[in-house]
Amino acid sequence: MKSESSIPLPIIGSEVTTACGSPDKFTFETPHVLHDGKWIFFCTPGCQQDFIRDPQNSCLTNHIREEAD
Ligand SMILES: [Zn+2]
Repeated sequence: MKSESSIPLPIIGSEVTTACGSPDKFTFETPHVLHDGKWIFFCTPGCQQDFIRDPQNSCLTNHIREEAD
């Protein structure tokens, strides 16, 4: 049985696409949250806070949905 905590983070220094739509190098300081079983990355802590505050209506949500399809 796979728990959420078993989902691995990317390797430090590998390229990830943030929820804001831009590529970024992943570091321990990259803001990220687990959402629907996958890691979502953000370019700034402010973007992360916006998403956490209202995941369903955040402007970031459309981008995340596009990636899921
Ligand atoms: Zn952002």
